Amino acid sequence: MPPEPSGTREGALRARLAATGLDGLLVTHLPNVRYLTGFTGTAGVALVLADEAVLVTDFRYAAQAPAEVGERARVEIAELDVWERVNRLLEGRARTPVIGFEEESVTVRTARRLEALSPAVELRPTSGLVEALRMRKEPAEVAAIREAARLAGEAFGAALPAIRAGVTERDIAARLETELRRRGSEWHPFPTIVASGPRSALPHARTAARTVEAGDFVLVDFGAQVDGYCADLTRTVVAGRADERQRVVYDLVREAQGRALAGLRAGLSGREADALARGVITARGFGDAFGHSLGHGLGLEVHEAPRLTRANGDELPEDAVVTVEPGVYFPGWGGVRLEDDVRLTPHGAEMLSDGCTELVELV
Ligand code: ZN
Ligand code: ZN
Repeated sequence: MPPEPSGTREGALRARLAATGLDGLLVTHLPNVRYLTGFTGTAGVALVLADEAVLVTDFRYAAQAPAEVGERARVEIAELDVWERVNRLLEGRARTPVIGFEEESVTVRTARRLEALSPAVELRPTSGLVEALRMRKEPAEVAAIREAARLAGEAFGAALPAIRAGVTERDIAARLETELRRRGSEWHPFPTIVASGPRSALPHARTAARTVEAGDFVLVDFGAQVDGYCADLTRTVVAGRADERQRVVYDLVREAQGRALAGLRAGLSGREADALARGVITARGFGDAFGHSLGHGLGLEVHEAPRLTRANGDELPEDAVVTVEPGVYFPGWGGVRLEDDVRLTPHGAEMLSDGCTELVELV
């Protein structure tokens, strides 16, 4: 199901622009361009003004852009240069417009193009204007993430037989990625992580040529994408029988995730959310082994606002979709992470992924 028409998205953005004294916004971050206009190409700038929205792109998208954008914006195809066309749209106005640009997405090259815009434009750096709107998901966006999470869970189940002693991490990733694609994932929103044995202690491990050994933890962090929207799951299984220490560590992470899922709701701060799981792990004396934050927002990007971190004192909004992914890692031995995706409501967290986190021993 495609996301809802974005008339209300532009309206909400215009209200924010007016509140910050801006006449318009130059949107250069591509996920924001997509959110506002529906355009999925990799080159384009959206200009949102009080009275109109324009997508400027180049000749490669002459057919695709109008088809994707529809009524959401006027499409202009720049024959030579996108920024020259943007300049033409902004110059010659009765009053000097104050136009925001997205400071996080501006490269040095784009900054030069911005500087070269007509002197009749006053530019202001902005941060997170569209991202703030994107935090609250519309029902169709939640449905897309739920579908991505559903197919990801199914794909993992189908790939489980490939996880056994004697195969390489790359073999496991290849099988899982095939299962994801066959079930309709548009792409892998990030490189699949398969980390086995001692490598499971590396929270951001890359899949390697290592061969899985009997009794290894195998940590698998993977995503799926539907209508541009991402799911992000992590499962940790044992290639064989778990030993006592593996059981204790696994149960601790599972308990921490369960506590977080039970206590999480809109209205908590990112810090309070993080503390739900961290409290459980710290109380057992393993606080130092949980080195990352509890989770992050999911949407058109696999890491977006809001963040469930100790550094985020802001309230988590209703209808945000976030991951819940505590982990503990012991260098040289291994680690466990469990990650599920939820939608936040004032009363709790609604599961979007399957939550299948019972310990799996592949014997
Ligand atoms: Zn993940
Ligand atoms: Zn994640």
